[in-house]
Amino acid sequence: MQSFSNSLFADAEASYEDARYVIFGVPYDGTTSYKPGTRAAPAAIRAISYNFEPYMPEYGFELTDIPFTDLGDLYPEADPETVAAQVEDTVSMILSDGKVPVMLGGEHSITIGAVRAAMPKWYVVCDAHLDFQDEYRGSRYNHDCVSARVRDLGIDNIIIIGARSGSREEFEAAAHHRIYTADEVHDRGINAIIGEVKAAIGGDAIYLSIDADAIDSCLTPGLGTPDPFGITHWDLRSVIRALAGQAVAFDYVEVLPNDSEQTAAVAAKMIREFIGSREHPAKQER
Ligand code: MN
Ligand code: MN
Repeated sequence: MQSFSNSLFADAEASYEDARYVIFGVPYDGTTSYKPGTRAAPAAIRAISYNFEPYMPEYGFELTDIPFTDLGDLYPEADPETVAAQVEDTVSMILSDGKVPVMLGGEHSITIGAVRAAMPKWYVVCDAHLDFQDEYRGSRYNHDCVSARVRDLGIDNIIIIGARSGSREEFEAAAHHRIYTADEVHDRGINAIIGEVKAAIGGDAIYLSIDADAIDSCLTPGLGTPDPFGITHWDLRSVIRALAGQAVAFDYVEVLPNDSEQTAAVAAKMIREFIGSREHPAKQER
């Protein structure tokens, strides 16, 4: 039989029953403030995933040898609090079936529901923004409130890597958590930061969230809230390789595919890295 293409993530060929990883998209951008359009990201990330070979030379295996699936996109309602509940349902189902959720945004507010389902000991996020607003533009579920809502769940172990934007009040609210600014990553190097993060979390379970704007917008400009002087895609890959093994769930959010596919390409590669490095833990810290 010939090969037939579809619109799902490349090589996600396992059945749900057999899959160890379950990709799903949440094409939602209802609270975005600067540029809208992250709802188009799941499709853009899947489209460019076909640009990459199944073989992962850094791990020596084919992605097709790892059972993972792609459910397609959740149909999101309009209200961000309702969307968080839809996401919570979906992530709860995947976790209770013993699989690892891999969520494609959409805007960052969708992470609130996923963290509520996973209730990890630690929330680790790469983001230009602190997302510590208590309320923004009339909603406590705005994409600028994610870290504050995670804290409200009683998850006090919050680590933000790549931060460089937030109000004075947000920086004060974030102060007793572990914040690594992009400047600090630039000055000290990502491996020093990763060493501290790993020492802090020990063997605990984490939720790993990647807001695409953590990366310098001069490198990956397809963003709803672009911010320069960020971390690099190399830094981000190091974080994913180092921490994927401890992540009970993973998301990649805030891609706005209005560039020349740089930002979606990095997202697709990072999703492959998340799965690949979990399957090959000996090489996680390369
Ligand atoms: Mn964010
Ligand atoms: Mn952000």
